[in-house]
Amino acid sequence: MFGRQLEDGAGLNEMSPVSQWLGVARRLGTRALDAVLPPQCLACGEAVDRHGGLCAGCFSKLTFITRPYCCVCGVPIQVFDDDDAMCGACIRERPTYRRARGVFAYTDEGRDLVLKLKHADRTDLAVHLAQWMMRDGGELIRDCDVIVPVPIHRWRLAMRTFNQAALLARAVSRLSGKPMIATALQRTKPTPSQGGLDRQARRRNVAGAFKVEAKAKLEGKAVLLIDDVLTTGATADACSRALLRAGVGNVDVLVLARVPNPGGSV
Ligand SMILES: [Zn+2]
Ligand SMILES: [Zn+2]
Repeated sequence: MFGRQLEDGAGLNEMSPVSQWLGVARRLGTRALDAVLPPQCLACGEAVDRHGGLCAGCFSKLTFITRPYCCVCGVPIQVFDDDDAMCGACIRERPTYRRARGVFAYTDEGRDLVLKLKHADRTDLAVHLAQWMMRDGGELIRDCDVIVPVPIHRWRLAMRTFNQAALLARAVSRLSGKPMIATALQRTKPTPSQGGLDRQARRRNVAGAFKVEAKAKLEGKAVLLIDDVLTTGATADACSRALLRAGVGNVDVLVLARVPNPGGSV
């Protein structure tokens, strides 16, 4: 997989110019190391059977999201034998997007794994984690025409050097063969961090923060929006609203980690 990732300097579009050459050099180093190093657990680095897996300890600590879950937002719910069941929040108010799915819960261990992706020297993780997204988001990926990452503002891009949502989106695009338009959505406001904000505050924070690039030509298309984390869904909702206003047919959302109880204290 590392070989495929390296074919054309993957991920350059979502990297700031300064870090592009550093990124290529880093990943060339990763490929060389991958060829000689034994497979390691993605989370803790312990030796495992094959590349891209977790050790037994980390696997047992990570909470993978399995059915039953809300057919709309994908949050785990307590029902049996009903694939069309919805959570209370979606019954009260449907999100702007059509469906959302996540691979694992944003618990302490889930957050640690996502944070690893934000480290510049672990961008190789995106390829392995995208394979998990392929498995759990298979239906959404099959149904989409185009993949679009949730963007970060260019100021933050300059500080962080890359957008991990775009790295995941590119990897899913490669694995699935579905096209990705990295710049289809633009973040027009450098919105402050959503951390510590409740649902209403998050909504206000991201309202009107996104615009769709006209030349992306998304009219009537089924868009799969990809992000690393879904918390209250305010960002996914704001992105979906911008996309639908631009004439997109429908929007599904696929994330790596999601808050299992967005109505709770998080
Ligand atoms: Zn481990
Ligand atoms: Zn729901």
